[in-house]
This record gives sequence, structure tokens and C-alpha cells, in this order.
Amino acid sequence: MTDRSSSLDSAGPLRLGVTGATGRMGRVVLATAVERPDCDVVFAVNRSPASDAVEGVEIEPAVAFDALIADREPHAVVDFTGAGAAVDYAVTCAEEGVPFVTGTTGMDETQLDRLCEASESVPVLHASNFSRGVAVLDELLAEAVRRLPDYDIELVETHHSGKRDAPSGTTTRLLATLESAHPGEDEIPDRVHGREGDAPREPGEIGVHSVRAGAIAGEHEILLAGNHEEIRLCHRAGDRGVFAAGALDAAAWLAGRDPGWYDFREVIDA
Ligand code: NAD
Repeated sequence: MTDRSSSLDSAGPLRLGVTGATGRMGRVVLATAVERPDCDVVFAVNRSPASDAVEGVEIEPAVAFDALIADREPHAVVDFTGAGAAVDYAVTCAEEGVPFVTGTTGMDETQLDRLCEASESVPVLHASNFSRGVAVLDELLAEAVRRLPDYDIELVETHHSGKRDAPSGTTTRLLATLESAHPGEDEIPDRVHGREGDAPREPGEIGVHSVRAGAIAGEHEILLAGNHEEIRLCHRAGDRGVFAAGALDAAAWLAGRDPGWYDFREVIDA
């Protein structure tokens, strides 16, 4: 493995490689990066066929990724692609000693294991949501569930019609928070994905509902109801720029660190 971490010059801009560059997120990552004086996009790739330049950045075919890593020596790679592609890029980054930031969701256990293996060789940061507001929502939710363990919980997430995974990666993360914050270990709520027919709410279950429509960047609402009252915790991303900014902050924070598995919360708390 090549060690490129020492090539990070703290005085110069972050040399960045971008994957999935012509996707919904990739385009916004490029638009955000070219506006930031602390970032220098040294290459951007997307699955063939290659497309026109985005934000003045040439788009190279994904097959050139290995050669581009060797040739352009990025300080970090930022990835928003698909689960299989993200893991393949992580493996290459591990072999080449390049820190890897990915926001790609929908990975299965095997893919997550491979991503974890990559973190034995390079720093890896995987976040299902790069919004600072969602990180706070996660904390508020944990507090609400600890204090109101008997309240009914329903979670509704809404995304654009092209989103592949359901429920969203953020929802999976919020569900994990709900389960670990729930005070009664034996009373961890059962997840119920949608309802149809004769389906009254069972005590203790948690309803999960995925809505797909239009161009919505991402909304998550958690309803807690009981005792003749209700609380709604809701986050709406107004623009994908919020995720791009968080991913670039994560890349700047991750570059030059020791190999390991890092959390976006560490970036926020830094
Ligand atoms: P998208 O389908 O618009 O874009 C994905 C891009 O990756 C496409 O251009 C596709 O051609 C490209 N791609 C796929 N395989 C590739 C490969 N092997 N090499 C290079 N390019 C490849 O999807 P999107 O809306 O941009 O979302 C991408 C991922 O990011 C999804 O998993 C989504 O859930 C996730 N996402 C995460 C956050 C976050 O904050 N973590 C925010 C938004 C989206």
C-alpha cells in the first residue's frame, strides 16, 4: 500500500477526487468544491459513457479511477454512487493509501464489512447523512425516546422519485438510535414498514413509511404520540448543497488521519 497521507500540505488546498460526478449529488459536490478555496478537484469520474464537463471539471470514465489515483495523488476521495461501486472504490483507495469519504447508502452487511476492512488500511468516513441538522435531530430523538418510552412512534421519510433504497439510510440510522436509546431492552419496538388492510397499531411497534415523489432532496419526520399529546421532530433539506458541504468538511477533516473508521459526528464536534 502506498502511504499518501504525508503528502497533505496543511497550507495548500485539499486535493480531491470525486466519484459519481454526474449524479444528483456528484454535480452538487463539484459545484460546492469549485467555490471553496480550500478544495482543488484533481479528478472526477463517472460510470461510462463519459459526459461533458461539470462546473468546468472534466469527467473521466470510471475505469480510469486507479490510474487517476496514481497520477493525480488526491488527499481524499468523496463518493456518492451506488453501494457496489462505493465499496469497489473504497478497496482501491485502501490499496493506494487514499482516505475515503462516502455518503452512499443502501449497503448490505457484506458491503459494509468490506468498507470496514478498507478502514484497516486508510481512514474511512461513511455517513448516511452529511447534514449537521440531521445529526442534531438524531440527538433530540434519543432524548425524546428516553424521556417518553411509552409513546407511539411513527417515522415518515420523503425523497425524490429516483431514490433507490427504502427506507433511506438516514431512517435506518434514526431507527438504530431509537432502538439503542429505548430504556426497556425487552421492549425494543418492532418495525412495521407501511400498513395495509386490517392493520391496527400493535403496542410498541414503530411504523416506517417511505414516500417517493418529485425532486424532494430529503425530509424526515418522527412523530411521538401518547398522553393526549404529540411531538413532531422534523428535518427538511432545502438543497443538496447541505450534504455536499458536509461531505467536503468531512474530507478536509479526514485527510492525513490514521487509518480507521470515523463518524461524521467527530467532524461536527471538531
Ligand atoms: P444518482 O443516481 O443521481 O447518482 C449516482 C451516480 O453514480 C450516477 O451518475 C451513476 O452513473 C454513478 N455511478 C454509479 N456507479 C458508478 C461507478 N461504478 N463509477 C462511477 N460512477 C458510478 O444518485 P444520487 O442521488 O446522487 O445519490 C447517490 C448516493 O448518495 C445514494 O446512495 C444516495 O442515497 C446517497 N445520498 C447520500 C446523502 C448523504 O448525505 N449521505 C445525501 C444524498 C444522497
